[in-house]
Amino acid sequence: DWELSELDDRARELDAAHVFHSWSAQAGLKPLVIAGGSGCRVWDHSGASWLDFSSQLVNTNIGHQHPSVISAIHEQADLLATVAPATANLARGEAARRIVERAPSRHNKVFFTNGGADANENAIRMARLHTGRDKILSTYRSYHGNTGAAIVSTGDWRRIPNEFARGHVHFFGPYLYRSEFWATSPEQESERALRHLERVIQSEGPTTIAAILLETIPGTAGVLIPPPGYLAGVRELADRYGILVITDEVMCGFGRSGRWFAFEGYDLVPDLITFAKGVNSGYVPAGGVIISDEIAADFDENVFPGGLTYSGHPLAMAAICGALDAMAAEGIVENARRIGAEAIAPGLTELADKHTAIGEVRGEGVFWAIELVADRETREPLPAAGMARVKTDLLARGLLPFVQDNRIHVVPPCIVTDDEVAEAMAAYDGALSLVD
Ligand code: PLP
Repeated sequence: DWELSELDDRARELDAAHVFHSWSAQAGLKPLVIAGGSGCRVWDHSGASWLDFSSQLVNTNIGHQHPSVISAIHEQADLLATVAPATANLARGEAARRIVERAPSRHNKVFFTNGGADANENAIRMARLHTGRDKILSTYRSYHGNTGAAIVSTGDWRRIPNEFARGHVHFFGPYLYRSEFWATSPEQESERALRHLERVIQSEGPTTIAAILLETIPGTAGVLIPPPGYLAGVRELADRYGILVITDEVMCGFGRSGRWFAFEGYDLVPDLITFAKGVNSGYVPAGGVIISDEIAADFDENVFPGGLTYSGHPLAMAAICGALDAMAAEGIVENARRIGAEAIAPGLTELADKHTAIGEVRGEGVFWAIELVADRETREPLPAAGMARVKTDLLARGLLPFVQDNRIHVVPPCIVTDDEVAEAMAAYDGALSLVD
């Protein structure tokens, strides 16, 4: 018998009293109440709604409440809601088959995890066991998850209070707009970033390095599209020094880049591929490692020293089957590619022409960043107060944004329509006029 607006108050009250939030000081948090959603929209109990251009944490690639995924979960819940990982289960096998069918041909096995962090954790473990080496190289501009080795592989500030795992070394990847290498062209950035990586490998001692772990397109760090030749160059260096390549496709995989896997757009075949988020749009938590035949063979006779109670959880697996089938049947990945090229790219270019607060726009598919600056010449990032103004204004205009540092990440679900992109561009246009 609650009034609808009282439900929103109640949600806020319970949240403030009992819910401990991620990555935050707990006092004074004012989270948005989200009670429901459909497609690219979410709403609270009282009827306020927002166009979701965040995909939550860049994971609802198929949009909210896709009926095929919901019914796949229902059907599996009626049949068997949970089962131990050591069993054989049809939903798990079907999910694994669908994933490896999208992967390179010499990758035929999947180790399922609960999410992206533990996917990276286990990929790192496999790389260390396979090579007999210890060190993991990863970039400063990265996020790999919030567990032992994954958080220490992460480059951003979240690593520093958690730096208890050993064997991690960081390097700078390419980022032409804020080049660490004084580069002035993508080709130069690529060449110099590779030279830097090779020097790090040589200086660390190549025979101590198990793997280079990198997001194919660094996501949280700013949607940093790799320049021509970079990823092919990383593969070449890895091969030259006997090092494995792990691509973290947790955020950029399963449609986000406009391809099933982001690495398909670059000349690189990884040894291990980690995924989560878009594989089933987070309807039930799931992630995993896609393992090359060569690495999988290590564990034909030797025990793999790792496991999880919920590895291959049937509800998560059913959600993967439902999501991947619907994405294929409805051309959802193709939609992401088309809309990126035909609607988001021109829309953002037009905004960049108009707003002096925009330093750069970059991206592909439904994976874009608008980098905001206080000064276009110096490229000084727009300060936090300006970003907060933009965020508040976007919410008031009915758009749920993804704001990270001095950037707005334009990351709608892969099902987004031309009309929804136009609506979002109008909201960004209005909000950006506050900070020009
Ligand atoms: N890797 C990347 C590239 C991510 O973006 C994330 C999450 O944002 C993770 C790993 C961690 O995934 P999870 O939060 O599911 O553990």
